[in-house]
Amino acid sequence: MQLQGVHHITMITRDARRTVAFYADVLGLRLVKKTVNFDAPEAYHLYFGDEQGSPGSLLTWFEFVGIQQGRAGAGMIHTIKLRVASPDSLRFWADRLAQAEHPSEEHQHSLTFQDHDGLRLQLVLADQDSLPLRAEHPQIPPQHAISGVQGASAYVLRGPQGDARLLTETLGFTQTGEGSWSLQGRGARFSWSCEISAQRGIQGAGTVHHIAWHCPDEDHVAWRRHVAEAGMHVTPIIDRSYFKSIYFREPQGILFEIATTSPGFAVDEDPQHLGEHLCLPEQHQHLRTQLERLLTPIVNPRSAAAEQR
Ligand code: ZN
Repeated sequence: MQLQGVHHITMITRDARRTVAFYADVLGLRLVKKTVNFDAPEAYHLYFGDEQGSPGSLLTWFEFVGIQQGRAGAGMIHTIKLRVASPDSLRFWADRLAQAEHPSEEHQHSLTFQDHDGLRLQLVLADQDSLPLRAEHPQIPPQHAISGVQGASAYVLRGPQGDARLLTETLGFTQTGEGSWSLQGRGARFSWSCEISAQRGIQGAGTVHHIAWHCPDEDHVAWRRHVAEAGMHVTPIIDRSYFKSIYFREPQGILFEIATTSPGFAVDEDPQHLGEHLCLPEQHQHLRTQLERLLTPIVNPRSAAAEQR
């Protein structure tokens, strides 16, 4: 049994409109699903990714209006790494981010910046053999487009030894150094690293809520059993419409999810018009009128562009 790589990473924002403006308009990802948090339907759950919303390309947000500013601390992911193709792409992004008033810091082979909520992001060079998972954007040449989620770094309270067993023996990661691991998925390798921090985190705007890996649908029940046998407190299988999921906290407290690869985002929308309308799961359909009144209206840049043509 093997995990297929990262599926999505989920964050918290206090402003869904600014999230759309930054991730779709500036970074050029496609808003592939506009839905609600299935466990708290008065909050948005927005999914951004490549053209199809492929696993491995997805960054997602819960919008909690009025939530406090968060701060990454022990037991939380603090940086998300996104792939670009070349050093030229890093220069393209340094210019584009500067124009959008998001200053960036260039290091050798990487570019670090923050979003409007203070979430730290890093563009890094893609491995030669990674599959490019790109969205189309009129101002971003395809050769410079962001092409998937490459890695994440977390703060941990104790040395990462406690995690090593779960990561390597249970989840199939390979240790690549002190506090660093990689997961060879389908079409890309994901890099995971941990640094010790005594600082407690504050879950709030600009922080990461959880990270999801994915597995073939037919292995999902076995993965749940496997994780439980490794001593994790794992949830029952939950239907998220676009995938099924289980959740557990790894030993340092970071929330992990294992999702199924299918069915994906075209299950309730035309693939040409993903993310243009509010999609609700069956159990929340009766709330539609109420939610449409309550949720901040956001326009998918794709539907706005189509109207102008
Ligand atoms: Zn998730």
